[in-house]
Amino acid sequence: MSAPSGTGKTTLVERLVQTTPALRMSRSYTSRAARASERDGVDYHFIPRDEFQARIAALAFLEWADVFGNLYGTSATDTEAILAGGEDLVLVIDVQGARQVRARGIENTAIFVLPPSAAILERRLRGRSQDSDEQIRRRLSVACREVADVAEYDYVVVNDEVEPSVGRLRAIIEAERARASRMRDVTSDIVRTFRKESPCP
Ligand code: 5GP
Repeated sequence: MSAPSGTGKTTLVERLVQTTPALRMSRSYTSRAARASERDGVDYHFIPRDEFQARIAALAFLEWADVFGNLYGTSATDTEAILAGGEDLVLVIDVQGARQVRARGIENTAIFVLPPSAAILERRLRGRSQDSDEQIRRRLSVACREVADVAEYDYVVVNDEVEPSVGRLRAIIEAERARASRMRDVTSDIVRTFRKESPCP
């Protein structure tokens, strides 16, 4: 899932994983300093820039990107462990990261969360009041470039209100899980019950 900064995607994903079975949110690594409201190991794994660069060199990231001058990445081993446990995983990553996931041929569904308008995004960023004027201007200019890439995604959710937006995200996940290609094991078990005694009449 990608969305410009301030679109409210973290709130949406937190609600989504609370209300959807077998769905987890990935915890990224970042070289950015923690904000006052953030906790290490909860919001992100906050690590020094040189440690992040050493992890890049060790190919520890499934994907990583430089966003606003800070480094962000998804751990390859954390991701593999969760998927091996049979759960689905939500990666909240930027456009560059989403491209890397696609380029690696990893099975994924790409969702772009849009704010209802640029003016509403700016109001939300200012309301959050965690960033300076200069940072807000930078985030808006990055957002302007990011929304231009929305056509690369499979689905779009406009985050007007939290609950309806979470409902639309859950509907996307349920539809993706119901794809015949992902239901093969269940399907063949059910088909077998019809043929238990004899072939079809
Ligand atoms: P923030 O600093 O506001 O938490 O996040 C800034 C941007 O970094 C957001 O667009 C967010 O999606 C992106 N981001 C967070 N974690 C990752 C990650 O692991 N990989 C990539 N590629 N982007 C990330």
